[in-house]
Amino acid sequence: MKLSFLGAARTVTGSFFLIDTESSRFAVDCGMFQGPRALQERNFNDFPIGAETIDFVILTHAHIDHIGMVPKLCKHGFKGKVYCSHATEDLAGVLLPDSGHIQEFEIDRKNRKNKRAGKPLLEPIYTADDAVQCLDQFRSLNMDEIIELAPGVKIRLRNAGHILGACIVELWVQEKEEQFKLVFTGDLGTQDQPIIKNPTIIENADYVIMESTYGSRLHPETSSRKEELKKVIDRAMSKGGNLIIPAFAVERTQDLLYDLYQLNDEGQLNPEIEIYIDSPLAIAATRIFQKHVDLYDDDARKILEDDNSHPLMLDQLKFSHTHLESMALNCKLGNMIIISASGMCEAGRIKHHLKNNIWRPEATVLFVGYQAKGTLGRKILDGDKLVTIHGEKIAVNADIVNIESYSAHADQQGLLDWLRHFKSDLRGVFLVHGEEESQDILGELIQSEFNIPVYIPELGDEFVLEEMKSTPRIHHLMDIRKDQANRAEKAYLDLLLKLHDIYRDNIKDSNYVEILRTVEKIQKSLE
Ligand SMILES: [Zn+2]
Ligand SMILES: [Zn+2]
Repeated sequence: MKLSFLGAARTVTGSFFLIDTESSRFAVDCGMFQGPRALQERNFNDFPIGAETIDFVILTHAHIDHIGMVPKLCKHGFKGKVYCSHATEDLAGVLLPDSGHIQEFEIDRKNRKNKRAGKPLLEPIYTADDAVQCLDQFRSLNMDEIIELAPGVKIRLRNAGHILGACIVELWVQEKEEQFKLVFTGDLGTQDQPIIKNPTIIENADYVIMESTYGSRLHPETSSRKEELKKVIDRAMSKGGNLIIPAFAVERTQDLLYDLYQLNDEGQLNPEIEIYIDSPLAIAATRIFQKHVDLYDDDARKILEDDNSHPLMLDQLKFSHTHLESMALNCKLGNMIIISASGMCEAGRIKHHLKNNIWRPEATVLFVGYQAKGTLGRKILDGDKLVTIHGEKIAVNADIVNIESYSAHADQQGLLDWLRHFKSDLRGVFLVHGEEESQDILGELIQSEFNIPVYIPELGDEFVLEEMKSTPRIHHLMDIRKDQANRAEKAYLDLLLKLHDIYRDNIKDSNYVEILRTVEKIQKSLE
């Protein structure tokens, strides 16, 4: 059984993991690279394996960095089924066509330039139509049921507590020789995620493939999240400007609505303040949230049942559906909260709201989500005083505020706590979905606390699990590999691993010394 890392390796985005068993080949997630241009360029590359060779795909959740390349996979000949939770299928139904629109829009813009420069025209990665077509291949599954997807391959989707419908994937692969159980965390949520249930505790696995977005960071106390939001609103409104909140259309927007509902319910929100959801996607996602009440946690259900009202609906909430309605908001100043997407300010209506507000000292921009390296959101958050929006340089004079506790990702402590529930049969952890520093720090902590190997794969790395089983020294070798990643050293380490296998298979007192000498000789010749 082979596990290959085709994305989210030494970086957060582009989750794409391939599993080859004796009888099938399948992927967990098929996401888009996001953030800096160099990463985004990868989305235009050919897949490293033929799309038609994949039998099926399992999706952890509906974020574009986990599902965004499914339409391309289908376009390139993937004919299998795409398995995911019911809510993930619903969300993908709006997010993927939207992503197709964005691809078409971006390429149109580039092609206008290319035409003028006499350069060849580009093709979008996929179109909105491609995305709609690929949805036919989706088959949603119930949570918490063990389901056989192929001979010898079973999965169970568990709550990941990250966004609506997000799953941890438990995967059992039975091969002739032995059985492996892998657990893919997908993106793991916090214990206090509003609306949805907490991540499921899992106790057994051979290997865990774990996200590490906040592997080096601790979130501030979450109990104060709502109070912090209230303080930001009060201050922003007292300055007389607008409060602009870039928020992911899925989950973060609804988390904000949930907290705003509660502030309002407690009489802590001035009813004069107008709240706008200005993102067609966020509006569609909010509808999907309203449908899947079975995924709500006890607190959210209590509001539904006791108050006989919906925890995502306030009287002062307005939806701006059309572009005209969105542009009309530019004419108003003050007493207004605009929640808009995209969450990292890379696309969508948030850009014109920032352009219209961020140069005003009376305005406030509130970040409530992760801002990847290289994005407009990260630049603003990092304190850039001048940013480019729609090709124009805009001064940053607004108050820039960040509430970190809205994170939909477990922090360092959350990740370690979740891992602590595993029994001692855990053989190793692969860290994915994190920037290098996060992964290195979390990796060290896991190694020292759990005394198990931690692997931090580079893009394209492959691991044959049967071979890892009886090579305890791989842990140490991988450690060296992590620090010295150049090709020559990789070849050297591969050779050492091979020698280790020869040594293990041939060890007898009589030839022990001879083998050791040969190893030393080879080592010297390579130094
Ligand atoms: Zn996610
Ligand atoms: Zn993710």
